[in-house]
Amino acid sequence: MPKSKAKRICQLPKAITIKGRSSSITNAFINAILPVREPSPEEEIEALAQLGMTPATIRCVYCGDKHTEWDHLRPIIYGKGPTGYITEIANLVPACGKCNQSKGNKKWDKWIVSGARLSPQSRVKTEADEADLKERISRLQAYANWNTPVPLAFASIAGSILWDEHLANQQSVLELLDKSQKHARKIRDAIKPHSDSV
Ligand SMILES: [Zn+2]
Repeated sequence: MPKSKAKRICQLPKAITIKGRSSSITNAFINAILPVREPSPEEEIEALAQLGMTPATIRCVYCGDKHTEWDHLRPIIYGKGPTGYITEIANLVPACGKCNQSKGNKKWDKWIVSGARLSPQSRVKTEADEADLKERISRLQAYANWNTPVPLAFASIAGSILWDEHLANQQSVLELLDKSQKHARKIRDAIKPHSDSV
């Protein structure tokens, strides 16, 4: 049957590839080595106060929506490696899912005013929104300057034996994803003619 040019009515689920998981594997290999420094309740209250919030008024720092998670203000990943920042209150801010997804591993001050999909700037509609965003940015700048975390040199702290093996493990998993993807494609190609005639 010839393909119709009419707009598709049903949104088909996207085809999933094994290799499409590469960035989550890279994220996992970096997240897996990150220490978590648990804040005391006082430190949490102090951090919120610096952001102009209390536990009762806590919202996403970037856009003001309901917060659903805590985001690393400074990215923990740059390129394909760790930045050296860890999970600690000085580098965490309450965020909503939309902002967290949109920000990804970008620097907050560049992303927040960028046209990235779902960025706070891209959601500005009125002058009041624009003023609100400016205020959020200056509050975040003050927060970033208040208690600046020091990045750690993970590779030299771990030593080359531990570190190199971690990188080699990551590389093997990524290569296996690639190999598995090529193999999966062969099976899909074999099934396809049968699915067309169903
Ligand atoms: Zn948000």
